[in-house]
Parts: sequence; structure tokens; C-alpha cells
Amino acid sequence: MADQANPFESLQEQVDDAAASIDADAGVLTRLKNPERILETNLTFELDDGSLETVRAYRSQFNGDRGPYKGGIRYHPGVTRDEVKALSGWMAYKCAVVDIPYGGGKGGIAIDPDDYSETELERLTRAFATELRPLIGEDRDIPAPDVNTGQREMNWIKDTYETLENTTAPGVITGKAIDSGGSEGRVEATGRSTALAARETFDWLGREIEGATVAVQGYGNAGSVAAALLDDLGADIVAVSDSSGGVHDPDGFDPRAVKAHKIETGSVTEYDDAAAVTNDELLTLDVDLLVPAALENAIDADLADAVEADVIVEAANGPLTPGADDVLADRGVHVVPDIFANAGGVTVSYFEWVQNRQRFHWTESRVNEELERVITGAFEDIVDAYESHDLRNLRIAAYVVAIERIIDAYDQAGNWP
Ligand code: GLU
Repeated sequence: MADQANPFESLQEQVDDAAASIDADAGVLTRLKNPERILETNLTFELDDGSLETVRAYRSQFNGDRGPYKGGIRYHPGVTRDEVKALSGWMAYKCAVVDIPYGGGKGGIAIDPDDYSETELERLTRAFATELRPLIGEDRDIPAPDVNTGQREMNWIKDTYETLENTTAPGVITGKAIDSGGSEGRVEATGRSTALAARETFDWLGREIEGATVAVQGYGNAGSVAAALLDDLGADIVAVSDSSGGVHDPDGFDPRAVKAHKIETGSVTEYDDAAAVTNDELLTLDVDLLVPAALENAIDADLADAVEADVIVEAANGPLTPGADDVLADRGVHVVPDIFANAGGVTVSYFEWVQNRQRFHWTESRVNEELERVITGAFEDIVDAYESHDLRNLRIAAYVVAIERIIDAYDQAGNWP
């Protein structure tokens, strides 16, 4: 198992690594490494048997220099204050690297949603929305889905906010169902940018994505869509896993059939009698492309030593520890960083928000075309920084691009009061 690096320390190390190539003021650098403010709250809600339960929830607003805070809300037992702080920072850098007009935020509730009924989750979500109400708003802070949350939770939050504010404000949250003001293509967007990032990277390296072998760790919304779209590009998905374990078939899987099996049985394991693999075995398979699409700290320095893939594209947030980054850079393994590769989710959230503000619905092909334009443009910016500054890896390059944009916005506003 990989070690449990503190994600907030990882974020700060990543910013320091990039800042070493930029002439940043020390005070501004400290600002870039810490959230502006954090809500930490205990939510009390009623269980179906009438008893009350109290759980811990957070919202971190990391940086608002480029626009409203933006980022998802996750429901997971591993949610901590430091994890939410890190995730909010990654959002600020993500929005800057793809140049959408947002800062960064993130929220979470420390629960396992499988322990609760739908009615209990609704009461809990509405309790959180009520706590969040003074902090969020279409031009203030715009939450979205993250691990274990989706359209259902976003619809509840939108409804709670609009009811309490006595208004309509669909742009207060993104990732909604289409009938509640959601965008075409939002559900697939994270996996789509992951596949586009892989395509651009292979092209840059002069390699063919067609026929490339791929292992995907994590088969939720990001991993399963990335696998399907990589398969559409001609790659061979030879291994997939989820929190229950994985399967490996050198002849390749039909990723959509694997997804159907997961929906039916709850897991990818035992799909089509394929050979079982553990998550660590999957991460060290000899494949052309590895896609970590689960949680933080999937690959630490020890595991990185055993990685056999040539390219890693991060669909998850923070799947590699800084120690793993060092080992992989030394070994010449190209890592395409989370803040770029999975930015499709927040980019289509931005399109959803634009549509909400305009009261106008885009077609799916328009959404996907605009997303492709954003992702290919951002990849060019990252490669430019990588080559012109002679940087050690693409992560540092992505941070250099993002930090420069945030500092420019901060400088132009001036320090006041
Ligand atoms: N939770 C997603 C992420 O980590 C999407 C955030 C958003 O759409 O605001 O990027």
C-alpha cells in the first residue's frame, strides 16, 4: 500500500517546486500556499428512525483572485480539513491552468454515503446547503460534484439555496441534472479531458495512442468514461480496478461492458472471468499508459519505483505523492498532472454556469468542441512552459502557467485594503 502523505503538504510542495522557477514575492508565495478561509461545521440531521446524528463538514475557499471560488463537494469517510484545503488549492491551480475565470474551492462531508438512506442523505445535504448559503452564490462560490456526489445532491443544494434566497439562481451550483439546468456533456467531461490529455501527450511524444495498452485504477465517473473514450481512440484497456479489486486481460476489455457489469454487481471484479489483480499489481503493470482515477496517494515513491508504464495521466486529484513524482521524473516516466488532465469537469461546469447565466442551452457537440479547444490550448501552454523554462516535469510546468496567471490577476487588482 502507498503511504498516506498529507495532501495539503503535497500541494504546498508542488507550489514551492514551481515557484522556484518564478520570481515570486515571499508574501505572495505564502498566499498562494494557503486557503483564504475555511468553514468547518458540525451538521446535525435526522435519521429515518427519528434519532439524530452529527457529522463534520468543510468548505475551503482557497483563492479568489481570478473569479468566484469553484470546486466540488465530496462525501467520503477520509475527508479531513487538510484534504479539503489541498483539494481547494488544486482547484485554484486547475482553473488557472485551463484559463477559466474562477478561483478555487472545495468542500466535503466525512461520511460513507453507503451507510445512509436516500432520505437521510437529502436531509444531510440540505443541512449542509443551509450552512453554505451565506458563503456561496453565482458570483461568490460555486460548488459541484466530486467523489460520491452527483446530480442528485447538486439538485438538492440548488433547490435549498433558491428556496432560502427566494430567487432562481441555477448558476449557484454546477453538475445539475439537465432538467434542473445542467449541461450536456458534464457527466462525461472529466473522463473526456483525461482521454484528450492522453491523446495530446502521445502525439507530443511522437507515439500512437491507437493500439496503446492502458490500465485504469478506479472505475467511477472519471475512470470509466476515460476508459470508454480511450477505447474509442483505438487504445486497448487491458486492466481496470475499483475499491474491491481489479481484472486484467492482455487482449483488452470492452470498457462499456465492464461499466455495465459494475452497475449490475457493484464492482469490476470477476468481469468475464478475467484474471484478478490487486490495485498495486494494476499500478505496476507493463502498459503504455496508466490512468489513476481514484483517490489521493495511490502511488508513493516505493510503488513509483515499480511502475512500468511510460505515461501516467492523472484523472484523480493528487494520486501521486511528491516522492513518487521525483522517482518518476528521474526514471523518465511522463506524468500528465491532475490540474490539467481532469480539468474537463470544471471546464464544462464553467460552460454550464455560462449557459445558466444566459438562460440558453448548448448542444452536446458545442460543449465537446469548446472543451477540446480549452484542453488542447492548455496543453500547448504547459508544453511551452516545460520547454522554455527547461523544467523537470509537466506538473511543474502546469503550476508555472497557473501561478503566473494568479499572480498577474493579484498584481493587477493591487493589495487592498
Ligand atoms: N470535482 C471536480 C474536480 O475536482 C469538478 C469541480 C467543478 O466542476 O467545479 O475538478
